[in-house]
Amino acid sequence: MSEGTTYVLGWDGLDYELCKEFGLADEFVPHHKRAETFANDVLGKPDTYELWPSIITGSRPEEHGVWLINEENGGAGASNPLMNAASDVAHRFLSTRSRIGLGIVLRNRGLSLDQKSADWYRKNGVSTVFDGRDSRVVGVPNYRNEDDDGLELLAGWGRKMSRYLDIEADEEAERVVYHPRKDLERLDEWLVSEVGKKIQVVRSSVDRDHDIVFTWLAYIDTVGHTVPAVEDEDWQRRAYERAARITREIRYMMNEEDTLIVASDHGNRRAEHTFDAFYGSTDERALEGVNSVLDYRKGIDRVTSATSARTPYEIEVEWTD
Ligand SMILES: [Zn+2]
Repeated sequence: MSEGTTYVLGWDGLDYELCKEFGLADEFVPHHKRAETFANDVLGKPDTYELWPSIITGSRPEEHGVWLINEENGGAGASNPLMNAASDVAHRFLSTRSRIGLGIVLRNRGLSLDQKSADWYRKNGVSTVFDGRDSRVVGVPNYRNEDDDGLELLAGWGRKMSRYLDIEADEEAERVVYHPRKDLERLDEWLVSEVGKKIQVVRSSVDRDHDIVFTWLAYIDTVGHTVPAVEDEDWQRRAYERAARITREIRYMMNEEDTLIVASDHGNRRAEHTFDAFYGSTDERALEGVNSVLDYRKGIDRVTSATSARTPYEIEVEWTD
């Protein structure tokens, strides 16, 4: 266990195979591996909405209770008629188009209305990697907190997104494709500025002695969904390079005793979520026994201190020492 801060950069959709193909895996972190992930039973694809709660709890949706959708109760979308219809029938009766369309509706909904809060986990007795720790959690799906609301990190995301991207179901290829509504340079500016906002929060937390600073970044997954609609064939590689550069900048910022972890929930190739998630760290011990997204918590726990579990007395002794 380290005495410093563990920084987790959650690059949504960072695909391990693409990192290797672009020769960039080592540019993110020195120690890394492909991690297994799992599909939503109804949609048949790994989904962001329920994967991040699974990552921070180290358990599957049937244990922690955050579903995008399931066959028994419709999950997050139980109040939506489309989702009720889907949950009435076994998913094998849903056409590809219905599944993709449903995924799009749920995705929009999940990013705006129906985010679980940090309090939700406490009230429902669901343990997370943040328990007993001095934590700063920046814009993680389904871990909404007051600090994010204050910075408006999630507010209006859906509206902003529709200003730059049209979301379309590509039925034949069974994927979701985003079509840029502006030229690529404007789209890039928006995507990178959204990353920048969160990275500045991470930067401002240096020397604050948090046990963990956990940040979620939509950039790489958004680019992944947009690739088929963009003519510039080099665009995705440049986005991966930029993500690696931003990651390295966090490493330069860190203190010697700090640890960096890079984690994704699934991969994304040709606008399709893949099972090739990326997991890596500056500390080799964080990788021991980690084979799937469900093991990340174990890896993070091993290298992360838990100081807020200390009693006031112990803190006083340490301060006067
Ligand atoms: Zn995702």
